[in-house]
Amino acid sequence: MEVDSKADDKAAGPRFVVKKWNAVTFWSWDICTDTCAICRNKLYEPSIEAQANPGLADDAGYSIAWGCCGHVFHLDCISRWLKTRSVCPLCNREWEFAKIEKIAMYNTE
Ligand SMILES: [Zn+2]
Ligand SMILES: [Zn+2]
Repeated sequence: MEVDSKADDKAAGPRFVVKKWNAVTFWSWDICTDTCAICRNKLYEPSIEAQANPGLADDAGYSIAWGCCGHVFHLDCISRWLKTRSVCPLCNREWEFAKIEKIAMYNTE
């Protein structure tokens, strides 16, 4: 009897309440690639374009952009790509910026 009533108590209220659900599991840094699929440069280095034009005032070559699909490219690389197509070059999903960050620790010389 006692055991039964305890079980009933448990069943009465939901045991697990999802308080917060992060729909987008963090894009995280453990993405399997650290290379920009567009220019093939490392993502912690400036884009090819920015390296070729060191005087470029544009920040885009020194920034990286995450798409909502989880793929990452240099901001200027993906921007150039988006002029012709509005999908992710890797997975073909509609491109949407999830976040943009400056490349850390990069010192212009
Ligand atoms: Zn790039
Ligand atoms: Zn993608």
